[in-house]
Amino acid sequence: MNVLAITCHPDDMEIHAAGTLLKCKKRGDNVTVCHVANGNMGHVVIPPEELGPMRIAEAKKSGDLAGFKTVTLNVGDLLVDSTDKKQHDDLVAVIREAKPDFIITHSPDDYMSDHVEVSKLVFKASFSASVPHYEPQLGEAVAVTPVFYMDNSDYISCEPYEYVDITDEIDMKLDMLACHESQLVWLRDHDGIDVLETTRTYARMRGAQCGVQYAEGYRRLFASQRATTKRLLP
Ligand SMILES: [Zn+2]
Repeated sequence: MNVLAITCHPDDMEIHAAGTLLKCKKRGDNVTVCHVANGNMGHVVIPPEELGPMRIAEAKKSGDLAGFKTVTLNVGDLLVDSTDKKQHDDLVAVIREAKPDFIITHSPDDYMSDHVEVSKLVFKASFSASVPHYEPQLGEAVAVTPVFYMDNSDYISCEPYEYVDITDEIDMKLDMLACHESQLVWLRDHDGIDVLETTRTYARMRGAQCGVQYAEGYRRLFASQRATTKRLLP
């Protein structure tokens, strides 16, 4: 299968879905990760023009570790906008190129606007990508794609109904997260958290809910043409 994760910041995939994507890779799927924002505001000291390229490099290092293809739309932090035609069309091109069997992204009720706008962009662009006469120069149309929502930040208002056992992947997931060195500092200084510790703790919590050691949880976009009879998650 082809799996496409479309997340906002360069480290969101590691926090919420890396274990699942590592399992996808193990079963032979092609995994592409698209970061919409470049994360250029995510530091107290380093200025945005330096941080953006640094964060894209951190994401590539993490993706390379796992064998994922990484792409970025390189939108500045706080500027993700689901009504922006360029952002929408750039995402249509990514979806048509990846030809995903399913997409993993943020939930539309997540904690900050850029995450929410990414979710809306995915909803819109994943339908547009299926319409043959919509901007055909962006690539060949693909099927309307099932979408899975990752857990919200700090797991607020997001009871999952599908779980993925990531017990064998937890160490690699945290190694990948540790590639985002700038964010270990930012999240300590801005949010007062040790993100490696909290990520392990939340994975343990999801694991406890489904009877394994570590897990990641998901909800689905329930809408016409988004359903399937197959289990898509590993
Ligand atoms: Zn984020």
